[in-house]
Amino acid sequence: MSNSVQQRRLDATPRGVGVMCDFLVKQAENATLTDSEGREYIDFAAGIAVLNTGHRHPAVIDAVRQQLECFTHTAFQVIPYENYISLAERLNALVPVEGKVKTTFFTTGAEAVENAVKIARAATGRAGVITFTGAFHGRTMMTMALTGKVAPYKTGFGPFPGSVFHARYPNALHGVSVEDALKSLDDLFHCDIAPQEVAAIIFEPIQGEGGFNVAPPEFVSALRRLCDQHGIVLVADEIQSGFARTGKMFASEYYPDAKPDLITMAKSLGGGFPISGVAGRAELMDAPAPGGLGGTYAGNPVAIAAAHAVLDVIAEEQLCARATRLGAQLCEALESTGNPAIAQIRGRGSMIAVEFNDPASGAPSGEIARAIQKRAMEKGLILLTCGVHGNVIRFLYPLTIPDAQFKESLTILTTIFKA
Ligand code: PMP
Repeated sequence: MSNSVQQRRLDATPRGVGVMCDFLVKQAENATLTDSEGREYIDFAAGIAVLNTGHRHPAVIDAVRQQLECFTHTAFQVIPYENYISLAERLNALVPVEGKVKTTFFTTGAEAVENAVKIARAATGRAGVITFTGAFHGRTMMTMALTGKVAPYKTGFGPFPGSVFHARYPNALHGVSVEDALKSLDDLFHCDIAPQEVAAIIFEPIQGEGGFNVAPPEFVSALRRLCDQHGIVLVADEIQSGFARTGKMFASEYYPDAKPDLITMAKSLGGGFPISGVAGRAELMDAPAPGGLGGTYAGNPVAIAAAHAVLDVIAEEQLCARATRLGAQLCEALESTGNPAIAQIRGRGSMIAVEFNDPASGAPSGEIARAIQKRAMEKGLILLTCGVHGNVIRFLYPLTIPDAQFKESLTILTTIFKA
């Protein structure tokens, strides 16, 4: 970015919107992004997990173009449109939720989580919500309260809505066993809130911002049992893990014996257009009275058209299988580097991350992650960090990335990891 544009950004927009890159985007196609000076990058950030089908997938652009020719907005609750209904029908058939399912749409991920809480409260008549350390659920007041990381998300923004409690998310690398995590839930039930007053337990099957931590199956099964025992609604936040990223349409499919009651989705559902949703058991979804759900832009028809195309592309291009294949190649390449700072390579499918510790002290090292990110950027590869200590690098390439470009990316990564 030229110095003058950088200065205009600093003068015109608040610093609270922290900006990672010092260049401006001009154009983007699939996994390639071109900046305003004509430099090309391989985009492994993908708008923070939004572009599983790549930038401007031709099928998505076509669907949007066709919708633009018809109408762009009516507000579904004023004048409904068919593609909203058919998208709900498609997702009802796809989500791993038991029994009859209904789906409703919103615009952002945070809005989907907010509404999952509303639905769970309306259905149970209870107030309490339990989430986990390291969780990220959004930046609105309620979702900030649910988020399990203080800086920078919650700093200075309180007080937050009440009746929100955090249990520990299992993390073997950081010394939190499944037993410890379940004990922390039990502690909550004794110290903070009776299970009969809890409306929902909200968890990420793979934590996104928290570091791509994979929920162990025995943990999810235990959550399901607790929810059944106490009439609590189990909510899986699949906003980052959904839509083929993990090698399945939804990460919850890895836990067939512990299906959630509600699933929140957003990001890659819209292939670059803002749309989110909540899908869940029909009797829960129908708990709020007419007028209780919705929003002016909720389920915008242009974004809905894009989402239909995204679902087509995932099926036609077999992106679940591709996610599994590319993820395995990535893990193999990272392992082959033998970098002594690698504490763990983990994930499922193409939801892969690598965590760094200082080889001398064994302490989490955000500096090493940032140095790798910086060297990758110099070579034209855009990477994102995550993790409670910022010491994790995640790889969110479009699942549609051409084979040759993916290979080139692995060469860049292995060179940097070996340096
Ligand atoms: N939940 C999860 C798991 C997320 O990863 C995110 C975004 N990173 C959100 C909720 C919030 O989504 P949005 O930024 O669209 O509000």
